[in-house]
Amino acid sequence: MIATGSHLDSVPGGGAYDGPLGVASALEAVAILKAQGWVPARPIAVCAFAEEEGSRFGMPCLGSRLLAGEITPAAVRVRTDGDGISLEDAWRQAEMDVARMGPDPDRLAAVAAFVELHVEQGLDLEERGQPLAVASAIMAHGRWRLTICGEGNHAGTTPMMGRRDPVVATAAAALAVRDVALGHPSARGTVGRISVTPNGTNVIASRVDAWLDIRAHTDSDVRAQLESTLALIQKCVEAEGCALTVQEESFSPLVSFDVALTTRIAEILDGAPAIPTGAGHDAGVLSAYLPAAMIFVRNPTGVSHAPGETARDEDCEQGALGLAAVLRDLAGTPAS
Ligand SMILES: [Zn+2]
Repeated sequence: MIATGSHLDSVPGGGAYDGPLGVASALEAVAILKAQGWVPARPIAVCAFAEEEGSRFGMPCLGSRLLAGEITPAAVRVRTDGDGISLEDAWRQAEMDVARMGPDPDRLAAVAAFVELHVEQGLDLEERGQPLAVASAIMAHGRWRLTICGEGNHAGTTPMMGRRDPVVATAAAALAVRDVALGHPSARGTVGRISVTPNGTNVIASRVDAWLDIRAHTDSDVRAQLESTLALIQKCVEAEGCALTVQEESFSPLVSFDVALTTRIAEILDGAPAIPTGAGHDAGVLSAYLPAAMIFVRNPTGVSHAPGETARDEDCEQGALGLAAVLRDLAGTPAS
């Protein structure tokens, strides 16, 4: 079996292309092949992986990780979303069988190759003047939850001196994250999510939870950046009289895509360039178990995870035609 597809979920306030373009292009590629009257020598599967962004239940690539057995149903079914709905309940609401949640080694073993088409999340192709690329690698990345506790009190009656304000500590921590990342040319460090308790206008907060996202070219670069970042954050938190606890929520090692498959796809796509990406993908998870590759479609704004994310219609068409040619090649010969 040759599998293709991507995901349909998005991030809060996300764009229209990250994920859905890969699923729509997979369906379009199959339609193109059908219209050509072509019959594959082995089955082609179209996939839409659940919860790729981890926006709802906090675990990126949840669907592909469950399929591969990297996470167990027992560990994730109790995870809840912002409204307190558990993954298990959401699963039922989608009319899916909870008993079937979990690894499927037989299905995974039947997949000879997985190709994920995705909108590019940068300006590389726009700068090169080319519509399509293949992915060479996915940068290593991790997510950590920082909990900063201080002392809640009245915003009007509490003197400025002696306050233990976790929001002030978090502001300094966010600057520290940026400053450390600036010192590592290929690295990224971001605080994009903050939860303030109790979140009142006239209240000094008692606690802040902030999520730290770090990415770099190697696993050890990420660890080294984390270490220097946390050392600096610890100082910021202590200076404000607050306390810091750190919990690792996920760590995704560097992914190098299958070289033979990627080279073959690049040739079919008329010598498309190979570019690395800083974003995680289901293809990255699956690459540990089977040959996986990605096709990127040019994004003229370079914006992703925001409404400005886009792709020109003619480039999307090139992508679907390219994917169809790739499927025709990969599924054109019977499994050996
Ligand atoms: Zn995506």
